[in-house]
Amino acid sequence: MTELSQIVKELSLPAFTARQIADWLYRKNIASIEEMTNISVKNRATLSEKYVVGISEPVDVRVSKDGAKKYLFPASDNGKYIESAFIPEYDRATVCISSQVGCRMGCAFCMTSQQGFQGNLSSTGILNQYRSIPEHENITNIVFMGMGEPFDNADELMKSLEILTSDYGYALAPKRITVSTIGIIPVIRSFMDSSRCHIAVSLHHPEATERRKMMPVENKYPVKEVIALLRTYNPNKQQRISFEYVMLAGVNDSLQEANSLARLVSGLRCRINLIRYHSMSGSSFVSSSEQTIEQFAGSLKKKGLITTVRRSRGMDIDAACGMLSTKHLNTITC
Ligand code: SF4
Repeated sequence: MTELSQIVKELSLPAFTARQIADWLYRKNIASIEEMTNISVKNRATLSEKYVVGISEPVDVRVSKDGAKKYLFPASDNGKYIESAFIPEYDRATVCISSQVGCRMGCAFCMTSQQGFQGNLSSTGILNQYRSIPEHENITNIVFMGMGEPFDNADELMKSLEILTSDYGYALAPKRITVSTIGIIPVIRSFMDSSRCHIAVSLHHPEATERRKMMPVENKYPVKEVIALLRTYNPNKQQRISFEYVMLAGVNDSLQEANSLARLVSGLRCRINLIRYHSMSGSSFVSSSEQTIEQFAGSLKKKGLITTVRRSRGMDIDAACGMLSTKHLNTITC
């Protein structure tokens, strides 16, 4: 709201125009300034000289036979792309959005990582994905699990969360939003201090030496320290801490690793989400078998950990993070 107030001030428009613009943008979902009919024609013209309503047309859409959809949006006019996924299931519809173009975190199993870092998205670029998906009105949940590390773009992430959850914005309940991170400790601290949205930490291996090989972030922010920090918070039932764990055959899926994982998070109110791996060309990683995943989940459950195995969605449409945009980039450059 501060930025909208600043804009109307700079354009010498009445102060209450900021609230009117927010109402049109976030509640009435208009597609152009021309539709803001309670703002005078002259003031709409002034606004239109500098601003547009930033709804983007996807440049590619893939529809899975399971109903999931993957949208590819232009990130800017420099030929880069970001991905957003729409995942309907039972009584909810989740949109998975990106926070960066590419990523600099270098996780070995991730397709986005192979693109390298191409830039941060602005809060507008983040919100446009939510707003531009044709199924916008049906969305019940948002997860920041698309391209990029959200906490590596903390200012723009926090701005977008404010607009998504505030009364003047989209007014979504924070419990409908989950932000994923590989564990950037200073940002986790400020996020936990200021947000009631859920947090999901990408853990993927319980032992530091092995995790380091897959996730360079372990060198700077060991997951043990991430967990120690999370233990200092006592989130109420409205805010959930979860750990994401991609199941990789022969890498992190033994019962010994399940035991290490259980020890690592023991006593912390959290849940573990086990994720099947989407194979990608050029990668040596392979998803664990269904039987192994079941045994791993069973072992965690026996130790009292709330454990879910995430259903694989959009396997036929390159729905894993970074797969479609990498393919698109390759198509364009080849
Ligand atoms: S898994 Fe997430 S943090 Fe790691 S490289 Fe991929 S997008 Fe970045």
